[in-house]
Amino acid sequence: MRRNRNVKIVATLGPASSTYDVIKALHEAGADVFRLNMSHGEHADIAKRHDIIRQVEKDLNSPIGILADLQGPKLRVGTFENEFEDLEAGASFRLDLNDEPGSKERVQLPHPEIFAALKTGAHLLINDGKIRLEVESCGADFAQCRVEIGGTISDRKGVNVPDVVLPLAALSDKDRKDLEFVCDLGVDWLALSFVQRPQDLLEARELAAGRAAILSKIEKPTAVEQFDEILNVSDGIMVARGDLGVELPVQNVPPIQKRLVRKCRAAAKPVIVATQMLESMIESPMPTRAEVSDVATAIYEGADAIMLSAESAAGQYPIEAVTTMDNVATEVESDPTYTSIIEASRSANRTSVAEGIVAAAREIAETTEVKAICCYTESGTTALLTARERPRVPIIAMTSLMETARRLALSWGTNCVMSGPKKRFKHAVISAVRATLSEGYATADDQVVVTAGVPFNIPGTTNILRVAPCDERQIYSTELE
Ligand code: PEP
Repeated sequence: MRRNRNVKIVATLGPASSTYDVIKALHEAGADVFRLNMSHGEHADIAKRHDIIRQVEKDLNSPIGILADLQGPKLRVGTFENEFEDLEAGASFRLDLNDEPGSKERVQLPHPEIFAALKTGAHLLINDGKIRLEVESCGADFAQCRVEIGGTISDRKGVNVPDVVLPLAALSDKDRKDLEFVCDLGVDWLALSFVQRPQDLLEARELAAGRAAILSKIEKPTAVEQFDEILNVSDGIMVARGDLGVELPVQNVPPIQKRLVRKCRAAAKPVIVATQMLESMIESPMPTRAEVSDVATAIYEGADAIMLSAESAAGQYPIEAVTTMDNVATEVESDPTYTSIIEASRSANRTSVAEGIVAAAREIAETTEVKAICCYTESGTTALLTARERPRVPIIAMTSLMETARRLALSWGTNCVMSGPKKRFKHAVISAVRATLSEGYATADDQVVVTAGVPFNIPGTTNILRVAPCDERQIYSTELE
């Protein structure tokens, strides 16, 4: 579906967005990728949403990406005799393995591996960081803590342990089952939660066996510290600001976001900025000015995608939230300051023929009147490299693989068009021109740049660039092969 912007929009689906009509309306309003959150909903709900997305994709003839977000090793306290307790600053509070209902003095933390890793002075954050405990002493089955910041603690509240690398498997049993289930359904991206180190991706990659690309959610301080290594083994990144802002002081999140977005672009890997982007739109049809500014900032930074969580999954105004993001993106991207920021942060580190070709394509587009860059791509790599250049004209990714088109739905500026396998470059040019015309990016008087790898169908061989007229008769009379 043709968009008037380059940044992509990811919309999380949930109870507010589970029907065919709403999902179709969300896609039409601007959602390029749908996120299925495996922390909520039964497999039957997930399968139903997945099938509806694929139906919308078919009905609108528009490749749509699906991202399944695995819950990861989420830590929770046990239950309380009175369902909740108010903890006061300065009080003592004990966490242990005892499954008796909790009280004002103690509660179960059913994770022996946490006690094994805890140290005196470490912090435990409960209920999205609202309660903060400091460990005063600990052993194999307990941690005696002092309440630093008090608040209400209740049954099964989440626990974050920011100061310690936890000896947890990257995938829980639930994640393994969910991963198999969503890969069988045919999702395009898997997001891994609470990644701590590069090795955490190994098992998921092995289990996915190429069926889905792997995206690491950066929400732990240890993941920020080892970001370069994690990026190296990931296909994409999510700046998961919700948990990141619990595990680290909130004021650390904006500079981390800026740094991570830049690094992802330099590596030509898509990056999503996520969480609380339009939080007030869960209940209001209008965003706050600060939220609009936050969305705009992510776009000015050059993020590939911006994400809606509860706004589209459980809010009252899911379509309005997508429309707001779409409007902000259109406005920001037409600002000359946006172009100058994006161009000033382009990486000049190019080492391959393909990188040279896509840079040349972008430069031609900047200095002449061409209307689009059409790149033939099978694995998606040439499209990602073209997107990294952030050209001023639309990128049309021509591919014969639906899975590539769907994965690229997350990448800045790429519009995917399905195109059968090619044997001759002349036919590739003609198909590219036809796609550009039919998608409305050019008229017969215009020109486009076409890049491809010849011979065709060998991944990683982009080696040819042609500035082609959009008039087919001229192509027939001038094209050599
Ligand atoms: C986040 O923490 O920002 C995030 C996206 O993860 P989740 O929604 O799974 O908590």
